[in-house]
Formats: sequence, C-alpha cells, structure tokens
Amino acid sequence: MNDTNSAPKFSTLAVHAGAAPDAATGARATPIYQSTSFVFNDADHASALFALEIFGNIYTRLGNPTQAVLESRVAALEGGTAALATASGHAAQLLAFHTLLEPGDEFIAGRQLYGGSVNQFNHAFKKFNWNVVWADSTDPASFERAITPRTRAIFCESIANPGGVVVDLPAIAAIAKKAGIPFIVDNTLATPYLCRPKEHGADIVIHSLTKFMGGHGNSIGGAIVDCGSFDWQGAKIRYKTLVEPNASYNGMRLAETFGDFSFAIACRVMGLRDLGPAISPFNAFMLLTGIETLPLRMRAHCDNALAVATYLEAHPKVAWVNYAGLPSNRYHDVQRRICPAGAGAVFTFGLKGGYEAGIGFVSGLRILSHLANIGDTRSLVIHPASTTHRQLTDEQRKAAGAGPDVVRLSVGIEDKADIIADISQALDQVA
Ligand SMILES: *Cc1c(COP(=O)(O)O)cnc(C)c1O
Repeated sequence: MNDTNSAPKFSTLAVHAGAAPDAATGARATPIYQSTSFVFNDADHASALFALEIFGNIYTRLGNPTQAVLESRVAALEGGTAALATASGHAAQLLAFHTLLEPGDEFIAGRQLYGGSVNQFNHAFKKFNWNVVWADSTDPASFERAITPRTRAIFCESIANPGGVVVDLPAIAAIAKKAGIPFIVDNTLATPYLCRPKEHGADIVIHSLTKFMGGHGNSIGGAIVDCGSFDWQGAKIRYKTLVEPNASYNGMRLAETFGDFSFAIACRVMGLRDLGPAISPFNAFMLLTGIETLPLRMRAHCDNALAVATYLEAHPKVAWVNYAGLPSNRYHDVQRRICPAGAGAVFTFGLKGGYEAGIGFVSGLRILSHLANIGDTRSLVIHPASTTHRQLTDEQRKAAGAGPDVVRLSVGIEDKADIIADISQALDQVA
C-alpha cells in the first residue's frame, strides 16, 4: 500500500496487510511456501540468522514466509506490534503462558471460558506446575481479590464462550495494570472487527484462528498478538524469559533487544522453537484467505444472529435467550461499549421442554449442522448437556451454563429467512 496521510482502514488491512506480489514470480495471492527449510546466502548470513541479529527464514518450525504474512495481517488488524501464528488456539495459549510462567507461578482466569481452555488450564498446565486461579468475568473485583505474590497474568475472553457474556475489559485491565502484570484477552469470538482488546487495555491478545478469523471451518490455527504495551524491563516482577540473559542466544536479553515486540519474539524463539506447535504453510494460506472477507462475514454473522435471537425470544417454546445484542440482555450496555459493531454470532438459549426438547430440536434441523465447532460460514448447533458436557454432574453442568435445556448456536451467513425457517420447523417438532 502507498504511504498516504490516512492509515488504511480495517477492510483494506484485512485484504492487504502483510502481503505484496511475490518478489520472485509476481504471484498476486500469497504463495504457499511448502518448504521445511531455506538456503542461506552464505555462512555469515547463516550465523547472523541463528544469533537473531537479522530476521529471515531458517526452518518452518521457527517461521515460514506464508506464516509471516498471516502474522503481519493479524497484528495489523489487532493494532499490535507483532504476532506469532501457531498450530491452534490452544498452542497459542501454551506458548504465551510458557513465556510468562515459571513452575509454581499462578495466573487468574475468568471462569466463563471455552471448555477446552478450562481443561487446558486445570489439567495440562498443572503438569508444568502452572496454577490457574478462577475469577468471575462478570465481576471485575473478583480478579483483584484473587491476586497473590505469585500472580503473573490475568486472562479472559472478550465475548465469553458459550454463555454470551461480554466482559468489561477496561475494568479488568485497570486491575492488571495496578498489579503490574500483563492482561491477556482471548478475542476469538469477537475478532478484531468487533473488538480490539488493545484499545481497552489488553497487553496480549490470543486467537483461535480456527473460528471466525479463518471463518470457513476448514483449518485449525492460532495467534498471539503482542500489543507492545507492557514494560517488561520496568516491571516489578522479573519475567525471566524476557529479562534475563538467554543462554541459548549468547546471553541476549530479549526485552532489552526487541523492546515493544519482545513478547512475540520470546514466544517464537523460546516457546515455538522448543515446544514445536508450528502452523503448516497450507493452513496459514487458508486462514489468510478467510481473513480477507472478515468484515463482510462478521457483519452478516451479527445481523443474522440478532434476527435469530429476536425470533427465538418471541417463541412460545423458548424459555430464555442469552444474546448480548438484544436490548433486554443484561450485558447489552457492556456490549455497546466493548464491541459496538455487534455482539458476535454465538449464543445460548433455553427450551421449556428441557433435555428431551434439546435432543429433539438438534435432531430436527436440516440446514443447521449438529457439531462441536463455532465460527463457520454455516450455521451450527450443539446441545451441550448430551455432548460436550455429558460427563459432568447436573450441578457442574448448571455452573458451566450447560444445563439440560441449553442449546448453543453459531449463526452462519446463509440467508436469515432460511435459518429461521429451519429453526421454526425444528421447534414445531419439539413437544
Ligand atoms: C476454539 C477456541 C479455542 C481453542 O482453539 P483451537 O484452535 O481449537 O485450539 C480457544 N478459545 C476459544 C474462545 C475458542 O473458541
């Protein structure tokens, strides 16, 4: 893009950021550089690359030209200084916490989270002796109460999966700032089209690119965005990976050398290098292609979701609808502050007929697919009590927002009249 006085707008960045016609071939679409490794110009070039004196391609576990375009694009859309793409959203979380935590450290997470994140924090992270302390995303003060001398970060989702909670990010950011710890926001459900967490005080943004960012239900990927706002060198807490001399890079101190993008670098050169969850060039290409239409798709998703939620709210067989885009919703005011362009497309509702009605509803649908995913062009549905939350007790299911009557929708971009007609005929079959 040419240098002009006005910075390119969001939709322009979604199409162009990070990409240019291929220097070698003129290819206009970003090529899939399906190569594990890259030839050095000469021995000096090779040693400079390994010493982090210059940036370039070495080996696809550490980085790849297709991946680099995806990283620049996600960083530009979030307003960050740099990003790291990973094999999945879970890999992004693993690398972000691996960079921040030492054994015995704690982080605070809002308990209204994607179920897979709850498992990762409760089980896998315990093996590293990284300890999650749960707070309530609807009550910012609960994060402040949970802080101890071992707390190293605060984590929450902007729009929390699956219950449709929109989180008061500035209130939680203020608590993290006062405690001198970074604030990490999982922005998967909102995407930067609806919410840029950096503008609300986040220091690090995490994505599952698998969902609305890629948007077509065909590729798994994740990203870590460095907002460049956290002062690692000035912090009271010593984040060792960032501030201590690094034995594997000739004693280099990453925060000192790389400044406002040192977190992204640390996640790559320590986390990705050693733990290994690199994204494939093919998936990076698929996700880049999806991101080009993010603004168009998010407008359609939000528009359709509001129409479906409005329809359900008025339906006699529906007990309640939890969609922050509805004026009647208790998170509507927060939604208008945090993601004013729309409340996203994932929400839950309850059927008066309970468990049997939930099963009957998902079985009667023809256009909506019954499966465990969100953020596809297609409309998706799941009945958590009989699937994802099956193994829990009734009590645990209720606490997780997955009671017997709960149905979760991820509203797609089909014609809204067809989505509503399908839901209507399925509800007709429910007792
Ligand atoms: C899906 C999801 C994740 C995990 O991402 P994967 O790409 O499946 O590893 C994390 N957070 C949220 C909010 C998600 O929806």
